[in-house]
Amino acid sequence: MPRATDNDLPPRPAAPRSFATAQVQAGFDSSVAENTAVPAIHQSNGFEFRSLAEARDLFALRKDGNIYSRAANPTVLVFERRVAELEGGIGAAGVASGQAAVAVALLALAKQGEHIVAARQLYGGTVDLLQDTFADWGIEVTFVDQDDIDAWSAAVRSTTRALFAESISNPIAQVLDLGAVAAVARDAGVPLVIDNTVATPYLQRAKDFGADIVVHSATKFLGGHGTSLGGVVVDLGTFDFTAQPERWPQLTQTYRRVPDGSLVERFGETGSPYIALVKTKYVHDLGPSLSAFNAFQLLQGLETLDLRMQRHTESALAVARFLDTNPAVARVHHPGLETSPWHAQAQAYLPHGVSSVFAFDLRTTGDDEADFRLVEEFISRLQVIRLVANIGDARSLVAHPASMTHSHMSRTQLAEAHIGPTTVRLSIGLEDARDIVDDLARALERIGDSADRPRLAESVPS
Ligand SMILES: *Cc1c(COP(=O)(O)O)cnc(C)c1O
Repeated sequence: MPRATDNDLPPRPAAPRSFATAQVQAGFDSSVAENTAVPAIHQSNGFEFRSLAEARDLFALRKDGNIYSRAANPTVLVFERRVAELEGGIGAAGVASGQAAVAVALLALAKQGEHIVAARQLYGGTVDLLQDTFADWGIEVTFVDQDDIDAWSAAVRSTTRALFAESISNPIAQVLDLGAVAAVARDAGVPLVIDNTVATPYLQRAKDFGADIVVHSATKFLGGHGTSLGGVVVDLGTFDFTAQPERWPQLTQTYRRVPDGSLVERFGETGSPYIALVKTKYVHDLGPSLSAFNAFQLLQGLETLDLRMQRHTESALAVARFLDTNPAVARVHHPGLETSPWHAQAQAYLPHGVSSVFAFDLRTTGDDEADFRLVEEFISRLQVIRLVANIGDARSLVAHPASMTHSHMSRTQLAEAHIGPTTVRLSIGLEDARDIVDDLARALERIGDSADRPRLAESVPS
Protein backbone atom coordinates (compact mmCIF):
# COMPACT_ATOMS: atom_id res chain seq x y z
CA MET A 1 0.00 0.00 0.00
CA PRO A 2 1.11 3.56 -0.51
CA ARG A 3 2.32 5.08 2.68
CA ALA A 4 0.72 8.05 4.27
CA THR A 5 3.31 9.82 6.29
CA ASP A 6 6.58 9.38 4.51
CA ASN A 7 7.16 11.64 1.62
CA ASP A 8 10.06 10.03 -0.15
CA LEU A 9 9.59 9.06 -3.76
CA PRO A 10 9.30 5.43 -4.77
CA PRO A 11 12.53 3.91 -6.11
CA ARG A 12 13.53 5.49 -9.38
CA PRO A 13 13.64 3.30 -12.47
CA ALA A 14 17.16 2.25 -13.49
CA ALA A 15 17.24 4.71 -16.37
CA PRO A 16 16.24 8.32 -15.64
CA ARG A 17 12.65 8.99 -16.70
CA SER A 18 12.07 11.71 -19.24
CA PHE A 19 9.48 14.42 -18.59
CA ALA A 20 6.79 12.87 -20.78
CA THR A 21 7.22 9.46 -19.19
CA ALA A 22 7.20 10.84 -15.66
CA GLN A 23 4.03 12.85 -16.25
CA VAL A 24 2.19 9.61 -17.15
CA GLN A 25 3.82 7.08 -14.81
CA ALA A 26 5.56 8.68 -11.83
CA GLY A 27 4.26 7.95 -8.37
CA PHE A 28 1.91 5.09 -9.20
CA ASP A 29 2.57 1.46 -8.36
CA SER A 30 0.01 -0.66 -10.18
CA SER A 31 0.65 -3.65 -7.93
CA VAL A 32 -1.22 -2.06 -5.05
CA ALA A 33 -4.81 -2.75 -4.12
CA GLU A 34 -6.98 -3.83 -7.05
CA ASN A 35 -4.14 -3.54 -9.59
CA THR A 36 -5.96 -0.87 -11.56
CA ALA A 37 -3.94 0.39 -14.52
CA VAL A 38 -4.87 3.98 -13.67
CA PRO A 39 -4.65 5.45 -10.15
CA ALA A 40 -7.93 4.72 -8.38
CA ILE A 41 -10.02 7.25 -6.51
CA HIS A 42 -9.61 6.21 -2.89
CA GLN A 43 -12.76 7.93 -1.72
CA SER A 44 -12.48 6.93 1.93
CA ASN A 45 -12.17 9.21 4.92
CA GLY A 46 -10.40 6.67 7.06
CA PHE A 47 -8.35 3.50 6.68
CA GLU A 48 -8.85 0.37 8.71
CA PHE A 49 -6.13 -0.68 11.13
CA ARG A 50 -5.31 -4.35 11.57
CA SER A 51 -4.92 -3.91 15.30
CA LEU A 52 -4.70 -1.26 17.97
CA ALA A 53 -0.96 -1.88 18.07
CA GLU A 54 -0.74 -0.94 14.38
CA ALA A 55 -2.88 2.15 14.96
CA ARG A 56 -0.59 3.19 17.80
CA ASP A 57 2.51 2.89 15.59
CA LEU A 58 0.89 4.82 12.77
CA PHE A 59 -0.23 7.68 15.00
CA ALA A 60 3.25 7.98 16.49
CA LEU A 61 4.70 8.13 12.95
CA ARG A 62 6.85 5.10 13.81
CA LYS A 63 5.36 3.32 10.85
CA ASP A 64 4.13 4.56 7.47
CA GLY A 65 0.54 3.94 6.49
CA ASN A 66 -2.83 5.49 5.92
CA ILE A 67 -4.76 6.93 8.82
CA TYR A 68 -7.24 9.60 7.76
CA SER A 69 -7.63 11.47 4.47
CA ARG A 70 -7.21 14.95 5.91
CA ALA A 71 -3.55 14.12 6.50
CA ALA A 72 -2.90 11.75 3.60
CA ASN A 73 -4.77 9.78 0.97
CA PRO A 74 -3.41 7.21 -1.51
CA THR A 75 -4.78 9.01 -4.60
CA VAL A 76 -3.39 12.32 -3.36
CA LEU A 77 -0.06 10.60 -2.71
CA VAL A 78 0.25 9.58 -6.38
CA PHE A 79 -0.39 13.19 -7.38
CA GLU A 80 2.21 14.44 -4.88
CA ARG A 81 4.86 12.03 -6.09
CA ARG A 82 4.19 12.80 -9.72
CA VAL A 83 4.48 16.57 -9.31
CA ALA A 84 7.56 16.12 -7.11
CA GLU A 85 9.27 14.13 -9.85
CA LEU A 86 8.32 16.60 -12.58
CA GLU A 87 9.78 19.47 -10.50
CA GLY A 88 12.84 17.44 -9.52
CA GLY A 89 11.84 17.59 -5.84
CA ILE A 90 12.22 15.24 -2.89
CA GLY A 91 8.66 15.46 -1.60
CA ALA A 92 5.37 17.25 -2.05
CA ALA A 93 2.14 18.08 -0.23
CA GLY A 94 -1.11 18.21 -2.20
CA VAL A 95 -3.64 20.70 -0.83
CA ALA A 96 -7.11 22.01 -1.62
CA SER A 97 -6.14 25.05 -3.72
CA GLY A 98 -3.27 27.17 -4.87
CA GLN A 99 -4.15 29.67 -2.19
CA ALA A 100 -3.74 26.95 0.47
CA ALA A 101 -0.42 25.91 -1.09
CA VAL A 102 1.02 29.43 -0.78
CA ALA A 103 -0.32 29.79 2.76
CA VAL A 104 0.99 26.51 4.19
CA ALA A 105 4.30 26.74 2.30
CA LEU A 106 5.06 30.12 3.91
CA LEU A 107 3.54 29.40 7.34
CA ALA A 108 5.92 26.46 7.68
CA LEU A 109 8.83 28.91 7.24
CA ALA A 110 7.79 32.13 8.98
CA LYS A 111 5.92 32.66 12.23
CA GLN A 112 4.84 35.64 14.28
CA GLY A 113 7.60 38.25 14.50
CA GLU A 114 9.33 36.96 11.40
CA HIS A 115 9.47 38.41 7.93
CA ILE A 116 9.08 37.58 4.24
CA VAL A 117 10.28 39.49 1.18
CA ALA A 118 7.88 39.10 -1.74
CA ALA A 119 7.59 40.36 -5.28
CA ARG A 120 5.08 43.15 -5.83
CA GLN A 121 3.86 41.43 -9.00
CA LEU A 122 1.88 38.63 -7.35
CA TYR A 123 -1.47 36.96 -7.93
CA GLY A 124 -4.18 39.09 -6.25
CA GLY A 125 -5.19 36.38 -3.78
CA THR A 126 -1.59 36.04 -2.64
CA VAL A 127 -1.33 39.80 -2.13
CA ASP A 128 -4.47 39.64 0.05
CA LEU A 129 -3.03 36.75 2.06
CA LEU A 130 0.35 38.39 2.64
CA GLN A 131 -0.88 41.95 3.11
CA ASP A 132 -3.94 41.33 5.29
CA THR A 133 -4.04 37.87 6.83
CA PHE A 134 -0.31 37.46 7.47
CA ALA A 135 -0.28 40.98 8.93
CA ASP A 136 -3.09 39.92 11.32
CA TRP A 137 -0.90 37.02 12.39
CA GLY A 138 2.19 39.19 12.98
CA ILE A 139 4.13 38.01 9.96
CA GLU A 140 5.51 41.04 8.17
CA VAL A 141 5.94 41.16 4.41
CA THR A 142 8.00 43.63 2.41
CA PHE A 143 6.98 43.90 -1.25
CA VAL A 144 9.65 44.76 -3.82
CA ASP A 145 9.71 45.27 -7.56
CA GLN A 146 10.78 41.82 -8.70
CA ASP A 147 13.17 43.21 -11.32
CA ASP A 148 15.01 45.35 -8.76
CA ILE A 149 17.59 42.92 -7.40
CA ASP A 150 19.09 45.55 -5.07
CA ALA A 151 15.64 46.04 -3.55
CA TRP A 152 15.44 42.31 -2.77
CA SER A 153 18.81 42.47 -0.96
CA ALA A 154 17.97 45.70 0.84
CA ALA A 155 14.70 44.26 2.16
CA VAL A 156 16.34 41.28 3.86
CA ARG A 157 16.42 41.43 7.70
CA SER A 158 17.76 39.12 10.38
CA THR A 159 14.17 37.90 10.87
CA THR A 160 13.59 37.17 7.17
CA ARG A 161 12.62 33.52 6.64
CA ALA A 162 11.70 33.35 2.93
CA LEU A 163 11.81 35.12 -0.42
CA PHE A 164 8.72 34.66 -2.57
CA ALA A 165 7.94 35.35 -6.24
CA GLU A 166 6.18 33.95 -9.29
CA SER A 167 8.35 32.65 -12.12
CA ILE A 168 5.93 34.24 -14.61
CA SER A 169 3.62 36.85 -13.14
CA ASN A 170 0.17 37.63 -14.37
CA PRO A 171 -1.47 39.48 -16.06
CA ILE A 172 1.43 40.95 -18.01
CA ALA A 173 3.69 37.88 -17.99
CA GLN A 174 6.81 39.35 -16.42
CA VAL A 175 9.55 36.75 -16.40
CA LEU A 176 11.46 36.63 -13.12
CA ASP A 177 15.26 36.78 -13.11
CA LEU A 178 15.17 33.70 -10.94
CA GLY A 179 18.91 33.17 -10.80
CA ALA A 180 19.52 36.68 -9.46
CA VAL A 181 16.81 36.42 -6.80
CA ALA A 182 18.08 32.94 -5.84
CA ALA A 183 21.53 34.46 -5.25
CA VAL A 184 19.99 36.99 -2.85
CA ALA A 185 18.21 34.16 -1.01
CA ARG A 186 21.47 32.19 -0.74
CA ASP A 187 23.29 35.21 0.71
CA ALA A 188 20.43 35.73 3.16
CA GLY A 189 20.47 32.06 4.20
CA VAL A 190 16.74 31.62 3.51
CA PRO A 191 14.84 29.53 0.96
CA LEU A 192 13.49 30.98 -2.28
CA VAL A 193 9.85 29.95 -2.73
CA ILE A 194 8.59 30.13 -6.30
CA ASP A 195 4.97 30.07 -7.45
CA ASN A 196 5.42 28.16 -10.71
CA THR A 197 1.71 28.09 -11.64
CA VAL A 198 1.91 29.94 -14.96
CA ALA A 199 5.15 28.34 -16.15
CA THR A 200 4.52 24.74 -14.97
CA PRO A 201 7.51 22.39 -14.68
CA TYR A 202 7.27 21.82 -18.43
CA LEU A 203 8.19 25.41 -19.31
CA GLN A 204 10.51 25.89 -16.37
CA ARG A 205 12.10 23.75 -13.71
CA ALA A 206 12.65 26.42 -11.10
CA LYS A 207 15.14 24.12 -9.39
CA ASP A 208 17.55 24.47 -12.32
CA PHE A 209 17.81 28.20 -11.59
CA GLY A 210 18.15 28.07 -7.80
CA ALA A 211 14.64 27.83 -6.32
CA ASP A 212 14.29 25.81 -3.10
CA ILE A 213 10.54 25.32 -2.80
CA VAL A 214 7.88 25.45 -5.51
CA VAL A 215 4.15 25.97 -5.11
CA HIS A 216 1.40 25.60 -7.69
CA SER A 217 -2.21 26.37 -8.16
CA ALA A 218 -2.88 22.96 -9.75
CA THR A 219 -6.30 24.42 -10.56
CA LYS A 220 -4.65 25.98 -13.59
CA PHE A 221 -2.35 24.20 -16.07
CA LEU A 222 -1.51 21.07 -14.05
CA GLY A 223 -5.18 20.05 -14.05
CA GLY A 224 -5.68 21.97 -17.24
CA HIS A 225 -9.39 21.50 -17.82
CA GLY A 226 -11.02 24.01 -15.52
CA THR A 227 -12.77 21.37 -13.42
CA SER A 228 -10.92 20.98 -10.13
CA LEU A 229 -9.29 23.20 -7.54
CA GLY A 230 -6.04 21.98 -6.10
CA GLY A 231 -2.60 23.08 -5.00
CA VAL A 232 0.76 21.56 -4.26
CA VAL A 233 3.93 22.45 -2.35
CA VAL A 234 7.17 20.82 -3.52
CA ASP A 235 10.43 20.65 -1.57
CA LEU A 236 13.22 20.71 -4.14
CA GLY A 237 15.67 19.44 -1.53
CA THR A 238 18.19 22.22 -2.16
CA PHE A 239 17.90 24.21 1.06
CA ASP A 240 19.89 23.04 4.08
CA PHE A 241 17.83 23.77 7.18
CA THR A 242 20.65 22.43 9.37
CA ALA A 243 23.21 25.05 8.26
CA GLN A 244 21.70 27.55 10.72
CA PRO A 245 19.56 25.28 12.89
CA GLU A 246 18.60 28.01 15.36
CA ARG A 247 16.65 29.75 12.58
CA TRP A 248 14.42 26.73 11.98
CA PRO A 249 13.42 25.33 15.39
CA GLN A 250 10.23 23.90 13.86
CA LEU A 251 12.45 21.47 11.92
CA THR A 252 15.57 21.07 14.02
CA GLN A 253 14.23 20.96 17.58
CA THR A 254 12.10 18.32 19.27
CA TYR A 255 8.77 18.10 17.51
CA ARG A 256 6.06 16.86 19.81
CA ARG A 257 4.25 15.08 17.00
CA VAL A 258 7.02 12.59 16.29
CA PRO A 259 8.59 10.49 19.01
CA ASP A 260 12.09 11.27 20.25
CA GLY A 261 13.47 14.06 18.20
CA SER A 262 13.14 16.59 15.44
CA LEU A 263 11.66 16.36 11.96
CA VAL A 264 15.16 16.62 10.53
CA GLU A 265 16.19 13.59 12.56
CA ARG A 266 13.07 11.63 11.59
CA PHE A 267 12.86 12.53 7.88
CA GLY A 268 16.24 14.07 7.01
CA GLU A 269 17.61 10.92 5.41
CA THR A 270 14.51 9.45 3.80
CA GLY A 271 12.33 12.33 2.71
CA SER A 272 11.55 15.97 3.35
CA PRO A 273 11.36 17.27 6.92
CA TYR A 274 9.83 20.45 5.50
CA ILE A 275 6.99 18.59 3.72
CA ALA A 276 6.44 16.51 6.85
CA LEU A 277 5.97 19.78 8.76
CA VAL A 278 3.59 21.15 6.11
CA LYS A 279 1.48 17.99 6.30
CA THR A 280 1.58 17.03 9.97
CA LYS A 281 1.13 20.56 11.26
CA TYR A 282 -0.37 23.00 8.78
CA VAL A 283 -2.55 20.74 6.64
CA HIS A 284 -3.45 18.64 9.70
CA ASP A 285 -4.35 21.66 11.86
CA LEU A 286 -5.89 24.02 9.33
CA GLY A 287 -7.45 21.33 7.16
CA PRO A 288 -7.04 22.48 3.52
CA SER A 289 -6.84 18.88 2.24
CA LEU A 290 -6.99 17.86 -1.40
CA SER A 291 -9.85 15.45 -2.09
CA ALA A 292 -9.15 12.08 -3.70
CA PHE A 293 -11.55 12.93 -6.50
CA ASN A 294 -9.78 16.20 -7.32
CA ALA A 295 -6.38 14.49 -7.10
CA PHE A 296 -7.64 11.94 -9.63
CA GLN A 297 -8.73 14.70 -12.02
CA LEU A 298 -5.45 16.56 -11.58
CA LEU A 299 -3.58 13.33 -12.38
CA GLN A 300 -5.60 12.96 -15.56
CA GLY A 301 -4.62 16.49 -16.50
CA LEU A 302 -0.94 15.94 -15.72
CA GLU A 303 -0.72 13.07 -18.21
CA THR A 304 -1.00 15.50 -21.13
CA LEU A 305 0.85 18.47 -19.60
CA ASP A 306 3.65 18.68 -22.18
CA LEU A 307 1.31 18.31 -25.17
CA ARG A 308 -1.07 20.90 -23.82
CA MET A 309 1.68 23.37 -22.92
CA GLN A 310 3.12 23.09 -26.43
CA ARG A 311 -0.27 23.96 -27.94
CA HIS A 312 -0.98 26.66 -25.34
CA THR A 313 2.34 28.42 -25.89
CA GLU A 314 2.42 28.14 -29.69
CA SER A 315 -1.11 29.46 -30.03
CA ALA A 316 -0.45 32.24 -27.54
CA LEU A 317 2.57 33.44 -29.48
CA ALA A 318 0.55 33.43 -32.70
CA VAL A 319 -2.20 35.44 -30.98
CA ALA A 320 0.35 37.86 -29.52
CA ARG A 321 1.91 38.43 -32.95
CA PHE A 322 -1.52 39.06 -34.44
CA LEU A 323 -2.47 41.55 -31.72
CA ASP A 324 0.86 43.30 -32.12
CA THR A 325 -0.09 44.28 -35.68
CA ASN A 326 -3.68 45.31 -34.93
CA PRO A 327 -4.33 49.07 -35.06
CA ALA A 328 -6.81 48.94 -32.15
CA VAL A 329 -4.12 47.54 -29.86
CA ALA A 330 -1.71 49.91 -28.15
CA ARG A 331 0.60 47.33 -26.63
CA VAL A 332 1.01 43.58 -26.24
CA HIS A 333 2.62 42.31 -23.04
CA HIS A 334 4.00 38.99 -24.22
CA PRO A 335 7.62 38.06 -23.46
CA GLY A 336 7.84 36.04 -26.67
CA LEU A 337 7.75 39.29 -28.63
CA GLU A 338 11.11 40.90 -29.35
CA THR A 339 9.75 44.24 -28.08
CA SER A 340 9.02 42.89 -24.59
CA PRO A 341 11.32 44.10 -21.79
CA TRP A 342 11.35 40.46 -20.60
CA HIS A 343 12.19 38.90 -23.96
CA ALA A 344 15.82 38.13 -23.07
CA GLN A 345 14.78 36.69 -19.71
CA ALA A 346 12.14 34.56 -21.41
CA GLN A 347 14.78 33.12 -23.71
CA ALA A 348 17.05 32.30 -20.80
CA TYR A 349 14.43 30.92 -18.43
CA LEU A 350 11.70 29.46 -20.66
CA PRO A 351 13.42 27.26 -23.21
CA HIS A 352 10.26 25.30 -24.14
CA GLY A 353 8.00 28.24 -24.86
CA VAL A 354 6.62 31.35 -23.24
CA SER A 355 3.51 32.00 -21.21
CA SER A 356 0.05 31.51 -22.68
CA VAL A 357 -1.31 33.88 -20.06
CA PHE A 358 -0.58 37.44 -21.10
CA ALA A 359 -2.22 40.81 -21.59
CA PHE A 360 -2.63 43.58 -24.10
CA ASP A 361 -3.83 47.17 -23.90
CA LEU A 362 -6.52 48.50 -26.19
CA ARG A 363 -5.76 51.93 -27.54
CA THR A 364 -7.00 54.28 -24.84
CA THR A 365 -9.37 57.20 -25.36
CA GLY A 366 -7.74 59.10 -22.50
CA ASP A 367 -11.01 58.99 -20.57
CA ASP A 368 -11.53 56.21 -17.98
CA GLU A 369 -15.29 55.90 -18.51
CA ALA A 370 -14.94 55.69 -22.28
CA ASP A 371 -12.10 53.20 -21.87
CA PHE A 372 -14.25 50.90 -19.73
CA ARG A 373 -17.04 51.06 -22.34
CA LEU A 374 -14.52 50.21 -25.04
CA VAL A 375 -13.32 47.13 -23.15
CA GLU A 376 -16.92 46.15 -22.39
CA GLU A 377 -17.82 46.34 -26.04
CA PHE A 378 -14.77 44.38 -27.10
CA ILE A 379 -15.44 41.59 -24.59
CA SER A 380 -19.14 41.41 -25.50
CA ARG A 381 -18.20 40.71 -29.12
CA LEU A 382 -16.00 37.72 -28.35
CA GLN A 383 -17.56 34.36 -29.20
CA VAL A 384 -14.74 31.82 -28.91
CA ILE A 385 -12.92 33.42 -25.97
CA ARG A 386 -14.99 33.29 -22.77
CA LEU A 387 -15.27 35.80 -19.92
CA VAL A 388 -14.16 33.66 -16.98
CA ALA A 389 -11.99 34.40 -13.93
CA ASN A 390 -9.58 31.52 -14.42
CA ILE A 391 -6.42 30.73 -16.36
CA GLY A 392 -4.77 27.56 -17.62
CA ASP A 393 -8.04 26.12 -18.88
CA ALA A 394 -8.54 24.12 -22.07
CA ARG A 395 -10.83 26.99 -23.11
CA SER A 396 -9.50 30.41 -24.09
CA LEU A 397 -10.47 32.91 -21.43
CA VAL A 398 -10.54 36.68 -21.19
CA ALA A 399 -10.56 38.90 -18.12
CA HIS A 400 -10.41 42.62 -17.39
CA PRO A 401 -7.98 42.97 -14.46
CA ALA A 402 -8.93 46.54 -13.53
CA SER A 403 -12.56 45.60 -12.89
CA MET A 404 -12.09 41.93 -11.95
CA THR A 405 -8.99 40.29 -10.46
CA HIS A 406 -7.25 43.53 -9.47
CA SER A 407 -10.33 45.70 -8.77
CA HIS A 408 -9.48 46.32 -5.10
CA MET A 409 -5.99 47.58 -5.85
CA SER A 410 -5.04 51.23 -5.54
CA ARG A 411 -4.10 53.22 -8.64
CA THR A 412 -0.45 53.09 -7.58
CA GLN A 413 -0.56 49.31 -7.16
CA LEU A 414 -2.23 49.00 -10.56
CA ALA A 415 0.41 51.20 -12.17
CA GLU A 416 3.19 49.18 -10.52
CA ALA A 417 1.65 46.02 -11.95
CA HIS A 418 1.44 47.76 -15.37
CA ILE A 419 -2.36 47.42 -15.41
CA GLY A 420 -4.30 50.21 -17.08
CA PRO A 421 -8.04 50.68 -17.69
CA THR A 422 -7.77 49.08 -21.14
CA THR A 423 -5.54 46.18 -20.12
CA VAL A 424 -7.14 42.89 -21.14
CA ARG A 425 -5.84 39.50 -19.95
CA LEU A 426 -5.97 36.40 -22.09
CA SER A 427 -5.37 32.77 -21.23
CA ILE A 428 -5.02 31.01 -24.54
CA GLY A 429 -6.65 27.59 -24.60
CA LEU A 430 -6.44 24.53 -26.78
CA GLU A 431 -8.84 25.54 -29.56
CA ASP A 432 -7.54 26.01 -33.10
CA ALA A 433 -5.35 29.12 -32.99
CA ARG A 434 -6.94 30.40 -36.21
CA ASP A 435 -10.36 30.50 -34.54
CA ILE A 436 -8.94 32.42 -31.59
CA VAL A 437 -7.24 34.96 -33.87
CA ASP A 438 -10.40 35.32 -35.98
CA ASP A 439 -12.46 35.88 -32.85
CA LEU A 440 -10.13 38.68 -31.72
CA ALA A 441 -9.99 40.16 -35.21
CA ARG A 442 -13.81 40.33 -35.37
CA ALA A 443 -14.10 41.83 -31.90
CA LEU A 444 -11.45 44.46 -32.64
CA GLU A 445 -12.66 45.35 -36.10
CA ARG A 446 -14.87 48.36 -35.55
CA ILE A 447 -13.12 49.26 -32.33
CA GLY A 448 -10.06 49.93 -34.45
CA ASP A 449 -12.03 52.70 -36.10
CA SER A 450 -11.05 55.00 -33.27
CA ALA A 451 -11.35 58.22 -35.27
CA ASP A 452 -15.10 58.07 -35.02
CA ARG A 453 -16.20 57.01 -31.54
CA PRO A 454 -19.85 58.18 -31.64
CA ARG A 455 -20.63 55.91 -34.60
CA LEU A 456 -18.89 53.10 -32.81
CA ALA A 457 -21.35 53.33 -29.93
CA GLU A 458 -24.32 53.27 -32.33
CA SER A 459 -22.99 50.22 -34.06
CA VAL A 460 -22.95 48.05 -30.94
CA PRO A 461 -25.14 45.04 -31.69
CA SER A 462 -28.18 45.14 -29.44
C1 LIG B 1 -4.86 31.00 -9.25
C2 LIG B 1 -3.54 31.27 -8.67
C3 LIG B 1 -3.30 31.06 -7.30
C4 LIG B 1 -4.39 30.61 -6.36
O1 LIG B 1 -4.82 29.33 -6.70
P1 LIG B 1 -6.28 28.76 -6.41
O2 LIG B 1 -6.19 27.36 -6.87
O3 LIG B 1 -7.26 29.60 -7.16
O4 LIG B 1 -6.50 28.88 -4.93
C5 LIG B 1 -2.03 31.29 -6.82
N1 LIG B 1 -1.04 31.72 -7.63
C6 LIG B 1 -1.24 31.93 -8.94
C7 LIG B 1 -0.11 32.40 -9.78
C8 LIG B 1 -2.50 31.72 -9.51
O5 LIG B 1 -2.70 31.94 -10.81
